[in-house]
Amino acid sequence: MPIEKSIKKNYDLTALTTFKIGGRADFFVIAKNKQELIEAISWAKIKKLPIRFFAGGSNILITKKKIRGLVIKISGEEYSVKGDIISAWAGTGLSKLAGIAVGLGLSGLEWALGIPGSVGGAVRGNAGAYGSDMSKQVAEVEAYDISKGRLVKFKNCGCGFSYRHSIFKQNRNLFIVNVKLKLSRGQTAGIKNLVKNNLFNRRRTNPQKPSAGCIFKNLEYTKLIKENRQLAEDLAVKGLFKGGKIGAGYFIDQLGLKGRARGGAKISERHANFIVNTGKASAEDIIDLINLIKKKVNSQYKINLEEEIEYFAS
Ligand SMILES: Cc1cc2nc3c(=O)[nH]c(=O)nc-3n(C[C@H](O)[C@H](O)[C@H](O)COP(=O)(O)OP(=O)(O)OC[C@H]3O[C@@H](n4cnc5c(N)ncnc54)[C@H](O)[C@@H]3O)c2cc1C
Repeated sequence: MPIEKSIKKNYDLTALTTFKIGGRADFFVIAKNKQELIEAISWAKIKKLPIRFFAGGSNILITKKKIRGLVIKISGEEYSVKGDIISAWAGTGLSKLAGIAVGLGLSGLEWALGIPGSVGGAVRGNAGAYGSDMSKQVAEVEAYDISKGRLVKFKNCGCGFSYRHSIFKQNRNLFIVNVKLKLSRGQTAGIKNLVKNNLFNRRRTNPQKPSAGCIFKNLEYTKLIKENRQLAEDLAVKGLFKGGKIGAGYFIDQLGLKGRARGGAKISERHANFIVNTGKASAEDIIDLINLIKKKVNSQYKINLEEEIEYFAS
């Protein structure tokens, strides 16, 4: 079926984000594979429409009531396993792939069970947890260069990975279509044990209400020391850096901001770096809380928190 027939007009995106906060897209389509994605992009290019993407919608805050142009949601599931390599279409769920790896006795994605969203989204933002991240497992990424209209392959060293960052975040013309992950053979019992512990921790710390995960990036010692040397050294003496980072939630918690609410949004009592939608939160409610946190943290600690979530607007 030509992609044109699947394009919907004035489409409400609310239900498609984990925050359950949305806006209406002028045009909307779901792409379940590379071909559908490229067709959708071509359709928008011919019509000279702006193009926006998301996949699992688990790391975005839609800030506009009206989103101009075509919004493409990446979805579906397509993967293959050869030895210790998993190759997957970008829309495939990260947690799904982690589950498959565990089942096959492949080690490397034990940290990823329970993280919502797609493997493509995870590579773009170099998602991670429990001291690991995507950069450690990515062997190759295939991306569609929207401006040039062609597919390009990147080896791990060409992806520009750093903490919650990659070149795909920097260059919005590069859309990840396929990801090859290199895992390693492990002891099934050890892998399962690690997964059990990680999942236990995740359930204990992550709030149940709709959210987009951690709002702010954790703070790296090497960056913090440039902003506030005394603070960085004091926190290091207290042993608060883990893997060279301290959670942004630490500062929010210290300021007694847990439970602070604006409209339908609330700073989680369970995890200070989560803002939850308690029912009818608007994007403005969330942004108000984000600004409040940034202001208070800056005024008390003389440091700047940086958003991990992405603002999705047109
Ligand atoms: C309860 C909860 C727990 C979470 N825990 C963690 C955690 O432990 N660690 C962690 O790192 N994150 C965590 N997150 C955040 C989120 O799940 C991850 O960042 C996830 O990898 C985002 O993937 P997504 O498909 O949902 O991306 P989306 O939210 O759909 O998109 C995010 C951005 O990536 C872009 N994008 C999406 N797919 C592609 C692609 N194929 N190519 C190029 N750009 C693309 C979009 O345009 C958008 O700008 C959590 C979120 C929630 C709600």
